[in-house]
Amino acid sequence: MQPFVYETAPARVVFGRGTSQNLRRELEALNFGRALVLSTPDQKEQSLRIAQGLGSQLAGSFHAAAMHTPVEVTLQALEVLKDVQADCIVAIGGGSTIGLGKALALRTDLPQIVVPTTYAGSEMTPILGETENGLKTTQRNPKVQPRVVLYDVDLTVTLPVQASVTSGMNAIAHAAEALYARDGNPVISLMAEEAIRALAHALPRIVATPDDIEARSDALYGAWLCGTCLGSAGMALHHKLCHTLGGSFDLPHAPTHTVILPYALAYNSDAARPAMAAIARALGMADAAMGMRALSMRLGAPTSLRELGMAEADLDRAADLATQNAYWNPRPIEHGPIRNLLGRAWAGTPV
Ligand code: NAD
Repeated sequence: MQPFVYETAPARVVFGRGTSQNLRRELEALNFGRALVLSTPDQKEQSLRIAQGLGSQLAGSFHAAAMHTPVEVTLQALEVLKDVQADCIVAIGGGSTIGLGKALALRTDLPQIVVPTTYAGSEMTPILGETENGLKTTQRNPKVQPRVVLYDVDLTVTLPVQASVTSGMNAIAHAAEALYARDGNPVISLMAEEAIRALAHALPRIVATPDDIEARSDALYGAWLCGTCLGSAGMALHHKLCHTLGGSFDLPHAPTHTVILPYALAYNSDAARPAMAAIARALGMADAAMGMRALSMRLGAPTSLRELGMAEADLDRAADLATQNAYWNPRPIEHGPIRNLLGRAWAGTPV
């Protein structure tokens, strides 16, 4: 028997093609009349095109969202939000833009509508990571959970192939760790296995044909499930390592997840057998860790920390940082084996 607690956050999820054209209707249904639209500089045009449909409901926009949600950017956006007297926040983009929307919601209690355009999954979580003075801190707070999520497959077609691959592997990592989470439950396990299956089958098709709408749809569907897993279950070694590598060594978020995942799975392999069996099943491979590495290689994804620009001399410090604060993991976190894992991931040694 697996005793469990199942909690779910109330959010409205709309999935399909062209769903971002329903933004106005969604705002009206919730009685919001003054939206602040957010994006990165790269997605300014795309977000303004979508925002046009809001007509008089568009109060203003801000297009300087940045990776890791720097507090100084949030404070600039907060000024704009107050100036235009917004009564809701509309984030159009990936985890960086959604992070800014959450940071604003935390400070204002305003509701958020999110239109995700990557597979990172932040839209389905009550988690916010913020950076101040070079330090990234993460909190879980129901105040930052978006109210409505509009998944519009058409908007994901422009996500470059390489970013699609690493973003998809980032998503898979959420599902993989949810399968062995201490606070996991049967519903999340079903979602996680289905999520890995959907993404593992979609990503090779996206690499072959980036505008394959069915493949894009399967990937976004998988990303939704992965985000739900991340929002519901606690994460372990893999996410901790990636947080350390991103936060302290400035490594890029999604590619770091892509490189580390097979090694984190290999580390936990003997301590989480049912989870590994589910991952292997979803990948259609005999072994979870080896299967994940094979998928990465097939997708032409980065397979070593060296490729991401990490210096070998930083590995000792990375192992120190990653083992500093105790956290739960199916296999105990020990300095020697973690240093070994990082060394192998740095070199890209087969798992
Ligand atoms: P991102 O949001 O930084 O996007 C990367 C780049 O791709 C940006 O320039 C963006 O404008 C562009 N882009 C996004 N979608 C596009 C599209 N469809 N077409 C063309 N260009 C597009 O990348 P990300 O990986 O989605 O997000 C990473 C950030 O999200 C990190 O800061 C990470 O910590 C955070 N994150 C948070 C959570 C959470 O639950 N809080 C979950 C996952 C990731």
